[in-house]
Amino acid sequence: MRFTFSQEQQQFRQEVCAFLREEMSPEYETVFGTFSEEKYWFSRDLFRRLAERRWLTVGWPEEYGGGGKTFLEQSILDEQIGYHRVQRVGITGINFAGPAIIKFGTPEQKARYLPPIARGEAEYCQGFTEPDAGSDLASLQMRAEADGDQYVLNGSKMFTSYYAHADFIYLLARTDPDAPKHRGISLFIVEMDTPGISTRPLPYINGEVAAQTFFDNVRVPRTCLVGQENQGWYHAMTTLDYERAGLERYARVRRTFDDLLSFSKSAPYRGGVFGKDPLVRHKLAKVKVGLEGWAALCWKVAWMQSRGEVPNAEASIAFLYGTKQRLYFAQEAMEILGKFGTLTPECDTAPIQGAIEGLSRESMHMHGAGTMEIHRNIIAQRGLGLPR
Ligand SMILES: Cc1cc2nc3c(=O)[nH]c(=O)nc-3n(C[C@H](O)[C@H](O)[C@H](O)COP(=O)(O)OP(=O)(O)OC[C@H]3O[C@@H](n4cnc5c(N)ncnc54)[C@H](O)[C@@H]3O)c2cc1C
Repeated sequence: MRFTFSQEQQQFRQEVCAFLREEMSPEYETVFGTFSEEKYWFSRDLFRRLAERRWLTVGWPEEYGGGGKTFLEQSILDEQIGYHRVQRVGITGINFAGPAIIKFGTPEQKARYLPPIARGEAEYCQGFTEPDAGSDLASLQMRAEADGDQYVLNGSKMFTSYYAHADFIYLLARTDPDAPKHRGISLFIVEMDTPGISTRPLPYINGEVAAQTFFDNVRVPRTCLVGQENQGWYHAMTTLDYERAGLERYARVRRTFDDLLSFSKSAPYRGGVFGKDPLVRHKLAKVKVGLEGWAALCWKVAWMQSRGEVPNAEASIAFLYGTKQRLYFAQEAMEILGKFGTLTPECDTAPIQGAIEGLSRESMHMHGAGTMEIHRNIIAQRGLGLPR
């Protein structure tokens, strides 16, 4: 067993790191909770420049504008984007919609949808969750009725992240209401400016804003259907696996830890430095142990994906463990910094750019890619072989 990256992968990491170090000036860094329009458009431009080097979709096949490398390289890119605090640009196109089109799309769909994603020009959001369908997603109610050479969409989607800048929504809708619930669902890509689509903002605790997205007699051509009609559930689940490694999420937290460590080594305190205090030292050491474990779990998932394996239980373990470590770090860091930890990034006396205040809010997000309970169910069933 070799816990190491290849020479080429290490070189790729160094190149991406050098590029981002050069390109990211501090005013565009998104410390937790400091999202802005200006930073978003800076990131979009940065993504275009990553794309020019074929790095943005480095794990896609070359024929679709990718770099022809594996999921490990794609994860190295995610790691660097997170560590350098590039504001989140939707990854739905790169991670879900694109791979679904590569696998199930027609030649026309590939020609139309893939190049703009690979060039960093198209933003996607994901329309899966509904007001009455979250964990039990297959009970979704949104209808897509065939009408001549069109489908007519009616219903609504909840928690549509990245909706504000999205050109397309990648969604699931029911095409056969009489079929067993997993079998009557289809997958679509719909332009967000299609008449009949409207949104209601849903601001999150971490400062990001998602939406409820309404579809009122939205007419789309049949060519929006991805893959086979009524097979959308199975198509979508295949590509959901791409969400799993979670390196970007880890790296954002790791960066904050590294900043707190540097601060502890240099900030004057009682005639020495802050990090000489036994309490601070032990707290940092305990957090470090957790972060190392989290990183190893994320890389294991990425490695499995790079080999074409489907990391179900492993991904849930990494997600759950990471969520707990992030929360633990936020609590320990708050105790280390005391009242200074509560200062927000706008405050120029806040240690490490006020990152701990934002991290504390971010760590309350425990249910992005499935709730904690659902991940435990996956581990019990698929990891431990327990009955449903
Ligand atoms: C930050 C964030 C971003 C998101 N982005 C998107 C997005 O872009 N697109 C999108 O489609 N969705 C998105 N979601 C939605 C997310 O996928 C859902 O919140 C999630 O699937 C849970 O669904 P729900 O909120 O309807 O909760 P429910 O499914 O209603 O669950 C409510 C509670 O019951 C528990 N529960 C439910 N079923 C079980 C069970 N079988 N066993 C044990 N406990 C159970 C849950 O764990 C939870 O605590 C996002 C959510 C968040 C928080």
